[in-house]
Amino acid sequence: MSLPPIKRVLLKLSGEVLMGDQQFGIDPVFVAELAKEVKAAKETGLEICLVIGGGNIFRGMAGAAQGMDRAQADYMGMLATVMNALAMQNALEQLGVQTRVQSAIEMDKVCEPVIRRRAERHLEKGRVVIFAAGVGAPYFTTDSGAALRAAEMKCDALLKGTSVDGVYDSDPKHNPDAIRFDTVSYDRVLADNLKVMDASAVALCRDNKIPIVVFSIREKGNLARVLAGGGVQTIVQDS
Ligand code: UDP
Repeated sequence: MSLPPIKRVLLKLSGEVLMGDQQFGIDPVFVAELAKEVKAAKETGLEICLVIGGGNIFRGMAGAAQGMDRAQADYMGMLATVMNALAMQNALEQLGVQTRVQSAIEMDKVCEPVIRRRAERHLEKGRVVIFAAGVGAPYFTTDSGAALRAAEMKCDALLKGTSVDGVYDSDPKHNPDAIRFDTVSYDRVLADNLKVMDASAVALCRDNKIPIVVFSIREKGNLARVLAGGGVQTIVQDS
């Protein structure tokens, strides 16, 4: 099964891909490489919305595990995603790609608030729109933020660029016999609790018929390959 024609995509990058080979934080060299991938995809004529996680800096669950109030820790996580969004904006603009950052937590000195109609206009003008701070509420993740923005911006697909090259029936890091799916249904992902995105994000994509494409962003040129229908990936959609 292949993807329908794609004109507008939402690209979700986990925060951890911004740290490159470091254990924490942002590696500007690696962010520049990612920006080149986004630029190449944009040059094929696509409209691109970006959502970047914050796990390379702070995750609410980790804070809560150390005794912090969960909601407070989640707000810190959301702020981390704004830092990543600004780092990516910087890298894209250094390559001559026009961008706007829109944050679900208003921060008018550094970026715009999320305004759907304004985001539409940015895309029409050829700008990449980077949505920061997830859905703007604790107890969610940027996966849910990505699904929400993909739905409201009417994206044709949600591409999830991570460190693994797709969805497996068990964890490939622990099971050498794990099998990668080429395609898998939303319902199977939810029923088997496969590690794709949070259940709420998968359900939102299912209800709005947005295919989810999971692929490795760590391989050079892979984003463009996946968009062209090649490359290694898993597509989550209705069976
Ligand atoms: N977060 C949140 N609400 C949102 C999006 C993010 O509370 O709508 C917080 C949450 O604490 C999360 C952190 O921000 O752990 C970083 O986001 P995420 O874990 O999704 O980043 P990723 O794993 O993609 O790097």
